[in-house]
Amino acid sequence: MDPAQLRLQAHAQRDAYLELLEQLVRIETPSRDRDGAAVFVQHLASVLTADGWRVTREARDEVGDVLLARLAEDAEGPATLLLCHYDTVHPRGSFGSQPWRLQDDVAAGPGSVDMKAGIVTGVLAPRLLRHAGSGPAGPLTLLVTSDEEIGSAASRALIEAEAQRHARVLVLEPSRDDGALKAGRKGVAGYRLELRGRASHAGLAPHDGASALVELAHLVLALTALGDDALGTTVTPTVASAGTATNVVAEEADLRLDVRVPSLTEAERVDAAVRAYVPRDPRVRLSVSGGLNRPPMEPNEANQALLRRAQALAVAAGWQVGGAVVGGGSDGNFTSALGVPTLDGLGSVGGGAHTREEHVRVGATLDRLGLLASLLTEA
Ligand SMILES: [Zn+2]
Repeated sequence: MDPAQLRLQAHAQRDAYLELLEQLVRIETPSRDRDGAAVFVQHLASVLTADGWRVTREARDEVGDVLLARLAEDAEGPATLLLCHYDTVHPRGSFGSQPWRLQDDVAAGPGSVDMKAGIVTGVLAPRLLRHAGSGPAGPLTLLVTSDEEIGSAASRALIEAEAQRHARVLVLEPSRDDGALKAGRKGVAGYRLELRGRASHAGLAPHDGASALVELAHLVLALTALGDDALGTTVTPTVASAGTATNVVAEEADLRLDVRVPSLTEAERVDAAVRAYVPRDPRVRLSVSGGLNRPPMEPNEANQALLRRAQALAVAAGWQVGGAVVGGGSDGNFTSALGVPTLDGLGSVGGGAHTREEHVRVGATLDRLGLLASLLTEA
């Protein structure tokens, strides 16, 4: 199929795109809201079934069902896994009674760009091909999970098992705000550090106390210094608490730490340093929990090759798309770490993810719909 033709046909599907996007955005689906999830999965399953997908659902304990849909199962080309999530970070009602807004080229609402538009792109790309009398070159699987925003604990095993059955993974998360695709993402680690010292009267016997708070101050600075700007490793203390009253030496302190790493080597370096930290006051005990949540999606040769292929198809369709390595993690981190070629950021373009300004830029997103359809025809 001619990429320029598919791009035109994608733009001709604008109304259908917005109709489905509005339906999906209006069903609010914060991560642990099983009622919203049930309505959402039911609706998406009926849309996919009508399009000829074979749909299965898997129940999960504390989050909504995971949806798996398969199409063109007998096709002989390379199998492609389209990876999406339907949970959002927005509590129900945070966008008021009218969560959906459309004005000119901008469609807005909770989870619009992150990532219900990506789901719509995944649904419509094969439909576009079918309308053009074509289809995906190989078997196509659409995996739509329910807990990406809370770490993917309930879906990680399935994501990894499915990735290993496919030749490549296309993650339909949004592009970077400037439109760039994502051939690499940093790994994400999170830690909790608890300090326990000795309480004492701050006036009568301050030196009998062992201040967990003073240790916390040293700890914060020491940990922050583990960052490496040149490599792109960041170590960010994000939440802290300590003490009980103005006149009491703090017995306990608690710190949360967000770590982003470009490589496993960096993940291991920071992890070792965090665990090796020794409080200055020997009376204060430190305990560390947590670790690497998502391995880095390193911009390896396989991922870069997939990016170059997508960029060439965009050029053939008359536009250009950049490539970037970004800080935020996605489920593509898991698939890339298994060595399965992974390209992310294909689903939509917009901005304001995780804020009330979240929105989709429709025209640029339709370019990606055409691009995804082109990628699916590649043998
Ligand atoms: Zn998100």
